Parts: sequence; C-alpha cells; structure tokens
Amino acid sequence: MKVCKFGGTSVASAEQIKKVAAIVTSDPTRKIVVVSAPGKRFGDDEKVTDLLIRLAEQALNDKKITHELEEVINRYRLIAEGLGLSEGIVHVIEQDLQQRLARDKNDPVLYMDYLKASGEDNNAKLIAAYFKHIGLDAKYICPKDAGLLVNDRPERVRALPEGDERLVKLRDEPGIVVFPGFFGYTEDGTLRTFNRGGSDITGSLLAAATEAELYENFTDVDSVFAANPTVVDNPVAIDKMTYREMRELAYAGFSVFHDEALMPAFRRSVPVCIKNTNNPEAPGTLIVKERNNSAQPVIGIAADDGFSTLFVDKYLMNQEIGFGRRLLQILEEEEIPFEHTPSGIDNISVILRSKFINTDKEARIIQRVKEELNADDVHIQSDFSMIVLVGEGMRHSTGLAARAASAIARTGASIQMINQGSSEVSLVFGVHKKDETKILKELYAEFFVESAVLS
Ligand code: ASP
Repeated sequence: MKVCKFGGTSVASAEQIKKVAAIVTSDPTRKIVVVSAPGKRFGDDEKVTDLLIRLAEQALNDKKITHELEEVINRYRLIAEGLGLSEGIVHVIEQDLQQRLARDKNDPVLYMDYLKASGEDNNAKLIAAYFKHIGLDAKYICPKDAGLLVNDRPERVRALPEGDERLVKLRDEPGIVVFPGFFGYTEDGTLRTFNRGGSDITGSLLAAATEAELYENFTDVDSVFAANPTVVDNPVAIDKMTYREMRELAYAGFSVFHDEALMPAFRRSVPVCIKNTNNPEAPGTLIVKERNNSAQPVIGIAADDGFSTLFVDKYLMNQEIGFGRRLLQILEEEEIPFEHTPSGIDNISVILRSKFINTDKEARIIQRVKEELNADDVHIQSDFSMIVLVGEGMRHSTGLAARAASAIARTGASIQMINQGSSEVSLVFGVHKKDETKILKELYAEFFVESAVLS
C-alpha cells in the first residue's frame, strides 16, 4: 500500500487533476491520496492558500470581502467545470467558506487557521467527487474523523504519535481515500494548520502511521537536483539519497520537500519518492535510510539567505562558567531559536533566522547581553546566507573543506563562518548574501562538473 501526496501545482487546475487520477489509477496500491490546495497554474499566478490568507485578513479587519471570496470560489468553479462536475460541489464549497467566515474572530490565529485549512479541505472534497464521477471507488476523509491529532501550540504545531492508533485504520477503508493535507485537530477538536507547505507533513504522517511500503510525493520537477536549477544550469539529478541528506538540504532552502516532513517517514523507515505529476514515468528521487556513498562525497549544495549573527565578545569568556547558557537563555526568553553557535576563546557568534528578530527585540537583546553578561562588545549583523555542502560520504573523505574553501576564495568572497563537525553529513559556510550566487556556482563547478548522475 502506498500513500501519495500531490502538491499545489499538481492540483491547480482540472487538467492537472486529470493527471492525478491517471497516476492513481495506474497503480492499484496507491491507496491514500493526500492533496494540497490548488497552487499556481503559471508563473505569477496566486496560490489558493494565499488568496485565503488575504480573505481572512480582510474579514479580521472588518473590511469588504466580496472580491476576495469570489476569487477563491472562482478557482474551484473553474476546476469543477473543467472536470465536468455539476455546480453542486461549488455550492458545497461556498457554504463551507461562509460558515468559516462567520466564525468567532476573538482568536485571530484560529480564525486564520480555519480559513487556510479550507484550501486543502475543499480541494479534497472536490477531487473525491471527481474520482467518483469517473467511476472510482473513492471517498473524502476528514482529518478529524481519521484522528490526525496535533498539539495545542498554535505557534509550533506538531503531530502527536497518539493519533497513529486511529490513523492506521485508514488501511482498512474500502477504495481510495482522499485526504486533505496541511491540518489536524487537537485533543479537544480545535483545528490547527502546520507551517506553509505542510501537506508534505500530512502525507508523511499517514505513510508512517499506516506503515505504507512507499510515500510518493508528487510535485512539478523530475527529481531533487544537486543545486538550485534557477541558479546553476542543468544541475545533476539525485536519484537516491538518505533521510539525513534530504533533511540538511531542506534546511538550507531545498523547498521541494518540507524539512519537517521527513521525521515520521524516517521513524518508521518508510522510503520517500519525490516524483513529477507532469512526467510520472521519470523515476524521481528516492529517499532511504542508507545508500552507497563511496562514489560521490558531496550529494548536493544548498544556499539560503535570511540569517543574522549575534556577535558577543568578552575577555576571558572561556573561563566563565555558564556564559553560553545565560546567553542562550536570553534568546529563549525572547522566543528566538538559534541555528549555529561558532565560538572562539573570547567570543561567540549565534546565528539566527532574521525572521525571528525585529528592531525592538534586537535592541533588547543587545542591552540584556551587555548588562547581564557584562560583555565587552555585542552587535547583530544581518544579510547573511548559509551555504551547505551535504553528503554522507563527506566524513570519510579528506581535503574536502580545503577544496570548498579554495573554490570560495576563487570568487573573491570572504567566509564569515565555517561549521563542520557537529553534523556528520554537512559543512556549512556563512557568507554575505551578496556573494551567495557566485559561491554556489563555483562550489557546484568544483564538486559536480563532469560527474555522472548520482546514486
Ligand atoms: N497549501 C499550503 C501552502 O501553500 C500547504 C501545502 O500546499 O502544502 O503552504
């Protein structure tokens, strides 16, 4: 039994949904079908989730919503028409949206969650209706009825393993199960959405809970590539990689698969295959526990911007017991997660995602570190990028850091931070954002040009 998830572009139009039906029916083991909300149909199109966010914002601000609501309904209407479905399903969706819009607005986060989740929920209903329309034995199942349990921390929604006991029963459902991605319910029945792109998480959760033989994640590219194809020309395709490699690449910007989505599949050792809805014959990228890594130490290079560094300098810092803990506690109290902490004897840098700080927090942190830790110098710099070389084979190879550093030196850029050792599968370089692209290109040339397809 397989679980397959179809992302936004795979379910963005009637034409795409027909491809989904063809893929599902071509393999009788494709039993659970997780769907996203309709995504982009062309370059500057808007995702239904973004339309829904705008709709919810208008409603929360007590502004007119007629236009925003029409935009959402029209997307579903176009799809339903293209699939030859009656207007009935569009009415169902319209009523559902009206009910969500009429909800209490006292908790804006919850209100937003209910509207965002409607994107996948209504698309799942529509796709199930289409599957039935073409004669398939299929049904929509709501995450609440199936038991997809999540914690009650709106700012950090995670699935609870207690839900697995009920989710496993999806295996026994007759026919094909069409399941909306992106949201679950707390113990007391409150809806909560995962982070953006979270339908990948739902797919992985269901695959793990039902102990599927494979979790297929259908998207709009043939495979995961060794570097971002919008920066590097024709990067090599990765045909097999490990969970850890995918996790590291997803961390630093490989958006093809959500970085939180690997854990459930990993725990139950369910292999994941990234495939293309527009070219289902292509083998895709298989993500497994282990692979033979002798041929190529580096499997991929990722780059992501939006990092800031908190620099702290204090003479004799290395002798001061508890300095690191007290520094990190200040960040904890400001609710800021940290990414890396490279340090010297008298200084420490803490790398953070810039999205978690604002001017107020920045000023407060600097003041607190100065006063509470008696630091000699404290400042925060933004506009950093992290470039991450990833590969299970890296820990067994020598000279790799030297090769990477020389490649970066050839670009004329300076390295702000190096982090190697804590992770066995990656080597991280912090650089100025302005240098990111040229460094990525040079590193790709160093490690991949002339290499064959990886395996
Ligand atoms: N529709 C949601 C988003 O755009 C979730 C998903 O597609 O995975 O983020």
